[in-house]
Amino acid sequence: MSDSDVGIYVHVPFCERICPYCDFAVVAARALEERVEAQYVDALLRELAGRRGAFADRRLASLYLGGGTPSLLRPESIGRIVRAGRDAFPGSGEITLEINPSSVERARLPGFREAGVNRVSVGVQSFDDETLHRLGRAHRAKDARLTLSACREAGFEAISIDLIVAAPRQTQAGVERDLGAAIEFGPDHVSVYELTVEAGTPFALAEARGQLRRAGEEEAIRMHARVESRLARAGYTRYEISNYARPGREAVHNRRYWERRPVLGIGVSAVSNDPATLQHPFGVRRSNPRDASAWLACVAGGRAAEVEILSAAAARAEAIFLALRTVRGLEAAPFAREFGAPPRAFFAQSIDRLLAAALLSESRHGNLRLTPRGRLLADSVSEHFV
Ligand code: SF4
Repeated sequence: MSDSDVGIYVHVPFCERICPYCDFAVVAARALEERVEAQYVDALLRELAGRRGAFADRRLASLYLGGGTPSLLRPESIGRIVRAGRDAFPGSGEITLEINPSSVERARLPGFREAGVNRVSVGVQSFDDETLHRLGRAHRAKDARLTLSACREAGFEAISIDLIVAAPRQTQAGVERDLGAAIEFGPDHVSVYELTVEAGTPFALAEARGQLRRAGEEEAIRMHARVESRLARAGYTRYEISNYARPGREAVHNRRYWERRPVLGIGVSAVSNDPATLQHPFGVRRSNPRDASAWLACVAGGRAAEVEILSAAAARAEAIFLALRTVRGLEAAPFAREFGAPPRAFFAQSIDRLLAAALLSESRHGNLRLTPRGRLLADSVSEHFV
């Protein structure tokens, strides 16, 4: 990946209905009104035009339409966004669209392909109807299968499947069946997320009442271990905590975050990582408001809601815990070039504690990687570096 490129993240907050575990910036819009859609896309393009200067002279490495459910936008709207991204930054790049398995979205797939989308990430979550029901998802397994086949027919260059583990009452056998169904379809990429229960969601309330019945930590660890070995046998390498790919099919856009590359985020709740400058050698992070009206006001006024100038200490901590999410881990030499000394100079105590707990391994050159158990407990490992 080059240092002279940019990734664009576009957040589209609309969803057919709100899942009970969702903590993203989303609004329910069963049938998205054309007027609302046009207003949102106009504002996205205005924000892109106002912010592109901070990323001048870069080539487009990736454009990722996430949400929310960006495939609720019509293909014409997706085409407007893709064209604006390519006009702002030359280059073809990976253009990813998140889609959910619904008949409306299925019918639009050829239109999305024509609009320039070359990679789709399908929110299957599970191939088991009971699990989908307990997750509060709007689709069923049959819809997922139909959508995956339609994606193949539409001719996307890459297809990724999202699965959830540790869903309510999900068993090891259930995880195994989901993996089998995903592998049978033969996607290029699989993302496997553990269900997290965020405060303020209906699932948090259900958990407090003892009604959720999801896997405990040890059970979830066994599920992840099963996922890793099953996908490895099928030819998928785990290249990041939640992501698996066939050789050469890793997601270009997602890697930008783990490698701390510039990302221009537009839309409600989107986050930008502006490139480093002489004035701000560790870059600047800009976070858009989660509320749609507040975001529209920011776009109209040409400002971001929250601007954080990254300090050396914040950048060092991020460099470590983001790199540790990847199978490659953290290489000490580039870290030392950026921060003046290798990781040990700043984090000796944390490193020793994690080595003693067998969660981390350290090479004789000071390169750091999570052990298999460390990968399963990555969130608690990262707390040692914050
Ligand atoms: S579809 Fe995804 S973004 Fe939308 S409510 Fe459900 S989990 Fe949240």
